[in-house]
Amino acid sequence: MSAKQEILKPTPVEDFRDRLASADQQGRRRWIFPRKVSGRFFRMRTWVSWLLLAVMFSGPFISIAGEPLLMMNIIDRKFVILGQVFWPQDGIILAVGLLVFFMGIAVFTAVYGRLWCGWLCPQTVLMEMVFRKIEYAIEGDAHQQRALAAAPWSLEKVLKKGGKQAVFFALSFLIGNTLLAYIIGREQLFRVVADNPAHHVTGLAFMLLFTAVFYLIFARFREQACTFICPYGRFQSALLDENSIVVAYDYRRGEPRGPMRGGLEAAESAARGDCVACNQCVAVCPTGIDIRNGTQMECVHCTACIDACNAVMEKVQRPAGLIRYASLNGIERGERLRMTPRLVIYSIVILLLIGLETFLIFTRSDLQTTLLRAPGALFQQTSDGHYSNLYTVKVVNKTGREIPVTFKLENVEGGMRIMGAPNFSVPARRLAETSVLIELDPSVLRPGSTPLVVGVYADGERVETLKTSFIGPRTKAK
Ligand code: SF4
Ligand code: SF4
Repeated sequence: MSAKQEILKPTPVEDFRDRLASADQQGRRRWIFPRKVSGRFFRMRTWVSWLLLAVMFSGPFISIAGEPLLMMNIIDRKFVILGQVFWPQDGIILAVGLLVFFMGIAVFTAVYGRLWCGWLCPQTVLMEMVFRKIEYAIEGDAHQQRALAAAPWSLEKVLKKGGKQAVFFALSFLIGNTLLAYIIGREQLFRVVADNPAHHVTGLAFMLLFTAVFYLIFARFREQACTFICPYGRFQSALLDENSIVVAYDYRRGEPRGPMRGGLEAAESAARGDCVACNQCVAVCPTGIDIRNGTQMECVHCTACIDACNAVMEKVQRPAGLIRYASLNGIERGERLRMTPRLVIYSIVILLLIGLETFLIFTRSDLQTTLLRAPGALFQQTSDGHYSNLYTVKVVNKTGREIPVTFKLENVEGGMRIMGAPNFSVPARRLAETSVLIELDPSVLRPGSTPLVVGVYADGERVETLKTSFIGPRTKAK
């Protein structure tokens, strides 16, 4: 039996920290064939994943007031969260939002361990609830998969392996397109799909790139995406403490482990702990670890070992929960979850950040204007003796209606003229740009540069006040 087809046995307790469960001592990949799992947690995770998959795949196609549920359009620098459009000008809101997100992860991990990884992470949901189930449907349970991998090539093997890879590729294509829709928006995605391919070479290239990346992740890397690539798995060990809730083996109850025996060995069996050393918890683990060795970085908290062990406990008529959600202190001393000083500090910081984010969102203006002197343009003197400067104005309309915008000089007398059109309107949820000429009488100019205050008016009301400067002659203009 080759290393790849080797049945995954528990890593010996004395060297489990020295090597990965999914690699041999030479560092070669040991392919993991996790056994099918069933049980209470698996049923709950199935329901949660159906909900998440529905949201994940429909996100770019569900509209709220004409905008998608979620869009991260990096190219146009337009971000939509729950139908609310955010622009680069809202960078502070997005930055605080990201801080809340990362602090949230820190607090969440400190209390609930890697609940995110097991229940909500798209990698786990897609791998365990979609790709793995397809694999079981085509190739059968773990022992059948191992037998198929070890068997010589035959028509059956070609059909099963080829069919599985074809389905994996088609699904990866679907996931890649969904990700693209999150980035460029559904309308642009439809154009990339339906238009002449020559007009959308970049879009098609990204479509193929995303498809290839997802195919490699789900067909090849699998658990290695969590154990080697994902940074969260790495830093979660720094966030957990002895009060964090993790998937844990109750060693006080389970040890000394050993098989149950009747007859003459019954007395010896009775002296043992509840773990009957059946290795079912290892057989179902998608990362191939033995949770009885303690909390490990590779554990994605998928709960498969809880279900597997509970089924064994039921058969041997011992209480469920030998492997369960618990904290180290809970297992060692029977302590309940408590707020540690670190948790209190994290929680205060996250509450402050949430407060700041709420304030920023509720005080966000409908319009956001930038006024800059046109690059490279010098001041001009007109035939009537006035001086003029040309400016570029960009206005972002964050509302769902078109807004006519006018400008007015607030601190000096002078003319302000929108170039090219008598009126300037900004379409709903769009950025509009125009040029504005400001003309000042020499009597109001200061030598070199004159500070200006410009009012931005929408529906007759001043909605913004901008500051800029007007460049004129260095000596007092006449
Ligand atoms: S499934 Fe439970 S009883 Fe079996 S080896 Fe794992 S911990 Fe022990
Ligand atoms: S140890 Fe248990 S919870 Fe952790 S990854 Fe393996 S099966 Fe999932």
